[in-house]
Amino acid sequence: MSLLVAQDLHKSFGRTRALEGAGLTIRAGEIVAVMGPSGSGKSTLLHCLAGILPPDSGTVTYRDRELTTMSDSARSELRRTEFGFVFQFGQLVPELTCLENVALPLRLSGVKRRDAERAAREWMARLEVDAVADQRPGETSGGQGQRVAVARALVTGPKVVFADEPTGALDSLNGERVMHLLTTAARETGAAVVLVTHEPRVAAYSDREVVVRDGRSRDVEFVR
Ligand code: ADP
Ligand code: ADP
Repeated sequence: MSLLVAQDLHKSFGRTRALEGAGLTIRAGEIVAVMGPSGSGKSTLLHCLAGILPPDSGTVTYRDRELTTMSDSARSELRRTEFGFVFQFGQLVPELTCLENVALPLRLSGVKRRDAERAAREWMARLEVDAVADQRPGETSGGQGQRVAVARALVTGPKVVFADEPTGALDSLNGERVMHLLTTAARETGAAVVLVTHEPRVAAYSDREVVVRDGRSRDVEFVR
């Protein structure tokens, strides 16, 4: 089943044409690596797919709902309930403990503190970061911080997790651990993953690779 379909996306920043006719289909539960050289448009494509950035033209459809014509509030609601996000760094709230960070998306959806924190603890255990539950993000290692971020992305039960260079700031051992735990958890919950990376070792965790070049995601797809 096609979950998320982007067609003929164009996006410019001033005179820079970041996307020039990019398209991508994500099926339920699949893990797709978006590869390509630096500056080719990978992050821009991910942001358009996730409804964070409006394309200049083209369509993004999530389960028959057109993201580009939705109201801002409908789009935020969809992001909050259906999508999860993991970025390279800086996405945890420094003033909150790691547990509070993981519980935050549930709290924002109106879940009671006790229930939110119970679910957060379970997810932290799955990501092997229960030991840092009461620490602040600044007190953890980079690898622990990214695993906390993955727990936070998954705690709401998203259908799609967007991960933009999630291992970009980690050494290869910690990177592999993050990828292993992220993809295992995604497979267990049936979440699809859209993974932007330039590292073949990270892309190796995907089911399928798509290459973006000069703002176009080529039909060059490596299917494992
Ligand atoms: P070309 O084939 O034109 O030399 P590249 O092989 O450099 O192009 O591919 C462009 C981008 O796609 C690079 O970032 C590269 O890492 C990635 N890429 C291409 N083929 C693969 C592959 N089989 N596995 C992983 N990454 C790939
Ligand atoms: P990638 O993720 O493949 O490295 P990006 O999608 O980040 O590529 O960027 C594609 C092109 O768009 C680059 O030339 C980049 O400099 C430009 N770009 C991306 N975001 C912005 C922005 N907010 N403002 C101006 N230029 C941008």
